[in-house]
Amino acid sequence: MQNAPFPAPESMSHFYIVIAVALLICGLCVALAVVYIRLYKKLKAESQARQVALAELEENERNFRFITENSADVIWTMDIATGKFTYVSPSVYNLRGYTVEEVMAQPIEEVMTSESAERAFGALAHAVELWNAGTRGDTRKVTEIDQPHKDGHIVPTEVVTTLHTNAEGQLTSIIGISRDITERKKTEEVIRNLAFYDSLTKLPNRRLLLDRLELAIAQAKRKEESLVLMFIDLDKFKPVNDVYGHETGDWLLQSVAQRMVCCLRESDTAARIGGDEFIVLLPEIHKRADAYMVAEKIRDTISQPFPLTNGDQLHISACIGIAIYPEHGLTEKQLMKSGDAAMYQAKESGRNRVWVYQKSGDDSIAEDDIRVRLNWKRSYESGERRIDEEHKELFRLASILINATMERDEHPEMFDKAFQALLTHAAKHFAGEERILAAYEYEDLEEHARLHRDLVERAGTFHQATVTNQLSTGQLIDFIIDDLVKGHMLKKDRKFYHLFRKML
Ligand code: GH3
Ligand code: MG
Repeated sequence: MQNAPFPAPESMSHFYIVIAVALLICGLCVALAVVYIRLYKKLKAESQARQVALAELEENERNFRFITENSADVIWTMDIATGKFTYVSPSVYNLRGYTVEEVMAQPIEEVMTSESAERAFGALAHAVELWNAGTRGDTRKVTEIDQPHKDGHIVPTEVVTTLHTNAEGQLTSIIGISRDITERKKTEEVIRNLAFYDSLTKLPNRRLLLDRLELAIAQAKRKEESLVLMFIDLDKFKPVNDVYGHETGDWLLQSVAQRMVCCLRESDTAARIGGDEFIVLLPEIHKRADAYMVAEKIRDTISQPFPLTNGDQLHISACIGIAIYPEHGLTEKQLMKSGDAAMYQAKESGRNRVWVYQKSGDDSIAEDDIRVRLNWKRSYESGERRIDEEHKELFRLASILINATMERDEHPEMFDKAFQALLTHAAKHFAGEERILAAYEYEDLEEHARLHRDLVERAGTFHQATVTNQLSTGQLIDFIIDDLVKGHMLKKDRKFYHLFRKML
């Protein structure tokens, strides 16, 4: 019997199964190997990436530390819940004189002044409120904070802060940068001083005065009160420069400013508006007499001698023009104009005096109300048209003043106006008369001009005495009639009448 060339069909199928299983196992092994290789590669790549990231993080941290530890600004973080610093950079020592450890241990109230703390906490509370209300914008804030230095002085700083949150979006900390702005503040102060203060006397300048005047007028209007503006110009200041030099002139201006300030209250303003010109603003004044008293005090203090280091004494005086709101002007411009005009009236009336602004003094009493009248006669005429017209006007104003003097108690305003009108006219007339006499080469001109000055001086003294009620009505009328009219116009002036009569 021949052997069968093929195994029996049963054993064949076993063989195939074994082969198939072997193949399957091989396949699985290969697949596992592939997965393993891939996994390995991925893990390796991830590990490498992590290492790179770690290296970058370390690098960043090194850089951050370098920046924080070497920055002139102080970088800090603070826990919002406890209000304690969690980090403060070492430059805090330069800023505040405390070490990092000392600052970390300080309660927040010792880190800044109470006024700054109020501002900073207000801003923080507002930012937190906004955040909690869902407004999640930029939380960056810049605040100026005053911080106490260990040696006691205050360091002005600019602090930039931003808020930080945890993974749940809750605010947890503040990151801040504090910068010393002492120099910036000093520069700002210098600029402000240049813009608003006079560099020589350190008094406010014209710009600041006008600002304050505008405010004071608004306030006086609202409260229906008065305010006073005084224009002060030194008399014959130029000669001080000429004789003693500009430096002494500067020193005198500074000394005058100091004395002036000593006569004022804190709410008043004394400003230098140019050369030897000053303005004083009294924003609250209840009585006209109070303004006059302050002005008198200033005039008096300026007229006291200024001792020089070499033992000499400097003498100076000032003219003060007073303008009152609302009667002499309702706006800054009108008041400034009235004050300036009053000051010139004071100069014209002989210097070293206080003068209240005068609109048109001769309207104080109507012509019909003049009960006592000094009558003009033809024999009083000199023959010079201008002088005669001015003498007639002097007669008229003197009559008005005599009547106003008799009613001084009932109408002090009318009396004041009439007195100033007469003095203003007299001062103008004397100057004009001297010019005419000079043109006619009057031989006694110098002596006559001296009489004029003396008269104006005495009239001014009389006027000031009336303010303090030191003169009786009779004394005043005597002065007007005897000294001004009879004594001067009808006697002294007659001495030059021959000049014009000769011409006629
Ligand atoms: P008046 O009585 O008419 O006022 O005569 P015055 O000599 O005072 O002349 P005025 O007021 O017209 O001139 C003021 C002078 O002040 C003019 C100028 O030479 C001088 N001056 C202006 N500014 C300064 C300054 O800053 N320093 C000094 N030393 N003098 C100044
Ligand atoms: Mg002057």
